Amino acid sequence: MHTTLERVLAKYPHESYFIEATQEFFSSLSFEVEPTILEQLLHAERIIMFRVPWIDRDGITQTNYGYRVQYNGALGPYKGGLRFDPSVNLDILKTLAFEQTFKNALTGIAMGGAKGGSDFNPKGKTDAEIMKFCQNFMIELHRHIGATIDVPAGDKGVGKREVGYMFGAYKRLTHSFEGVLTGKDIAFGGALGRTEATGYGLIYIVNALLRDIKQDLEGKRVVISGSGNVAIYAAEKAIAEGACVIAMSDRSGYVYDEAGLELQAIIDHKLKGEPLETFTGARFVHELPIWSVPCDIALPCATEGEINERDIKALAINGCKIIAEGANRPLTKEAVDAIQASDILYLPGKAANAGGVAVSGIEMSQNAQMRAFTFAEVDTQLKAIMESIYVQIRNTAKELGEPTNFLKGANHVAYAKVAYAMKAQGYV
Ligand code: GLU
Repeated sequence: MHTTLERVLAKYPHESYFIEATQEFFSSLSFEVEPTILEQLLHAERIIMFRVPWIDRDGITQTNYGYRVQYNGALGPYKGGLRFDPSVNLDILKTLAFEQTFKNALTGIAMGGAKGGSDFNPKGKTDAEIMKFCQNFMIELHRHIGATIDVPAGDKGVGKREVGYMFGAYKRLTHSFEGVLTGKDIAFGGALGRTEATGYGLIYIVNALLRDIKQDLEGKRVVISGSGNVAIYAAEKAIAEGACVIAMSDRSGYVYDEAGLELQAIIDHKLKGEPLETFTGARFVHELPIWSVPCDIALPCATEGEINERDIKALAINGCKIIAEGANRPLTKEAVDAIQASDILYLPGKAANAGGVAVSGIEMSQNAQMRAFTFAEVDTQLKAIMESIYVQIRNTAKELGEPTNFLKGANHVAYAKVAYAMKAQGYV
């Protein structure tokens, strides 16, 4: 391993997730990274950590922790989501902000990389509690963000409602109505198509790959983990393209129907707040991982580390040909290694799920222009961005002599963009 990498990472031995992600990234590059750039890329430009006191429904003061990791601003204002989940810690957020830097670079839109959030658990909270937490979170965060400084958005546990509460708080605290957050309600500057963007974008890039190998989605058996935003819109678009979505999951297990799931019935069921366990429209399985279902295409759209080496082997044996990541880092390191030894084509998340942040970039540009694009305009731009990401990573993989190694292609393209800008700005 590079000595700079070894020395820097030794300073943070407890950040195992960050160590794994950075090692994996730098070892995928086929050249020796310039030590100054490497040293800089191993450190976030700025990390803000703060206490968030808020009063719950019983009048008791609760304390959570808030973070914003402004990882790299070489290509534009810091950009990336906020996550509210008990699993949130600095290690995870640094890793996701590192990834976000390269994901955003692939979109070609002027956005740096960031990630933030809190260990606040939104599950089971009342609407008033969510509002109070968001307002108190913003009391500190507003000092560090702005439309040309840092533009947060949603992530796990943060959707349109939370973004709205945070936007309102920012407006009151700063006396400024600006595009400081994306994923906003359409009523006050949100982009049409932002909700669908990650899921649709995932299918657009899968389609670009399929076209390249002279195939299409018609009749393909697709397995999608998760039943949140990304999973639902990926399923919707896949079905519209003629695919058969045969399994979807949530924390309780997965539902399966070889003839194709009835998506609307699943959406209605989940909207009632019900787990898939109580869904009666398809067979429910909880004793096996969803990845044991034979399929042509697997789309992990739930969470980190949801596919391990054993799952990859099962998918390969059962005939799966493509894995595209809708979630952030859903494959463990061992799973990524196992893919290289199989004939599965793998589209990594920093390319495959870039549609969400790409439409966030479109939202920023429409806010800056004080106008609104139509759904069709956004969707056309999204498709063009996803296709361009595919072409860039495929061409680079080819040039590197490993035509199907899209992970390597993506890392090379993204690194080149970020490193060039850092250098041209005087190594900052
Ligand atoms: N949280 C999303 C992601 O992981 C979106 C970020 C954004 O829109 O800024 O890319």
